[in-house]
Amino acid sequence: MPMALLVHGGAGAIPLEHRARAHAGCQAAASLGWSHLQQGRSALDAVMYAVQAMEDNPDYNAGTGSCLTLDGNIEMDAGIMDGHSLQVGSVAGLELLKNPILVARRVLESPHVFLISRGAQYFALSQGFPLCSRSDLLTDAQYQKWLSTHEQSNHLHPTLDAFTNTSVEADKKHGTVGAVALDSHGHLAAATSTGGMLNKHAGRVGDSPLVGCGFYADQYAAVSCTGLGEDFVRLLIGQRAAAYVAQGFDAQQAAERAILFLSENATGTGGLIVVDHNGNVGSAWNTEHMSYASAQ
Ligand code: ASP
Repeated sequence: MPMALLVHGGAGAIPLEHRARAHAGCQAAASLGWSHLQQGRSALDAVMYAVQAMEDNPDYNAGTGSCLTLDGNIEMDAGIMDGHSLQVGSVAGLELLKNPILVARRVLESPHVFLISRGAQYFALSQGFPLCSRSDLLTDAQYQKWLSTHEQSNHLHPTLDAFTNTSVEADKKHGTVGAVALDSHGHLAAATSTGGMLNKHAGRVGDSPLVGCGFYADQYAAVSCTGLGEDFVRLLIGQRAAAYVAQGFDAQQAAERAILFLSENATGTGGLIVVDHNGNVGSAWNTEHMSYASAQ
C-alpha cells in the first residue's frame, strides 16, 4: 500500500529571502509526519503531528507566530478530519492555547464536531491542556506587522472599515499551515491550522476550521487549503477538490481544477494541497508563491 504525506506553510507573496526558511519548516514537518506513517501510525496522527510542529514554528501564522486581530488579540482556528471514519474536529477563536490542532483532535474524538472561543477553551482545559500566555504566542514579527498597519492607517479605533481596507492586503502573505496524508491502511486525513488574517475583525472565522472549506478528507482524497478564507468558504474549495478526485481526476488535476474554480468565481487568492487514495500528491495556487513539502 503506498503512503504519502504533504504539508504546506501558506500561500502568498512570500519575500524571496524568507522562502528558504518557509520551505525548510515544511520539510521538517513533512519528515516528522512521515516518520509517524513509517512507524505504522494513522494518517490522522501523521497530519496532526506535522501541523503541531508547524504551529510551534514561529515562522508560520498558526499557534506561535499567529497574526493579530484588528483589536490586537490572537484568535486561532484549526480543523482535522479522518477520511476513513469521516470524523471531524474543529476549534475557532482559541486565544491561549499553544496547539489548536491538538484540541481539534480531541473534539474529533468527542461527540461534537466544532467548538468555539470560550467553550473551546473550557473544553481544552477539561482535556488537560494548559493555558499559555499571550506572550507565548505573540512574535515580534507579527506585532510589528500589526503595528505598522495601524500606524499607516492611523486607526485609533477598530472599525469594520479598517478590516475591509486591510484585508485587501491579504495576498501579501498568508502562512496558514496544513497537512494531508495517506497511511499504510489506505486511510486519508487532513488538518489545517491558522491565526487567520492580519487585522481580522474580532470573532471572524475563515475557512481553516470549516469542514469542506479549509480542509476535507474522505475515502478518495484529503485536502488542506490556505488563502482568503471568505472565498474558500463561499466556494467549498476543500470538498470540491476531493469531489474532483471522486470523479476520477488525480490529486494534481484536482488541485488545479479547484484553484481554477476559485479564480473563475472569486477574487480571493490562495492555494491547496491534495493527496489521493492512490498516493498521488498535488498542489496548486494562484498567489505568487506557496510553501510546501512532501514525503513519499
Ligand atoms: N485561510 C486563512 C483564513 O482565512 C488564512 C490563510 O490561509 O492565510 O483564516
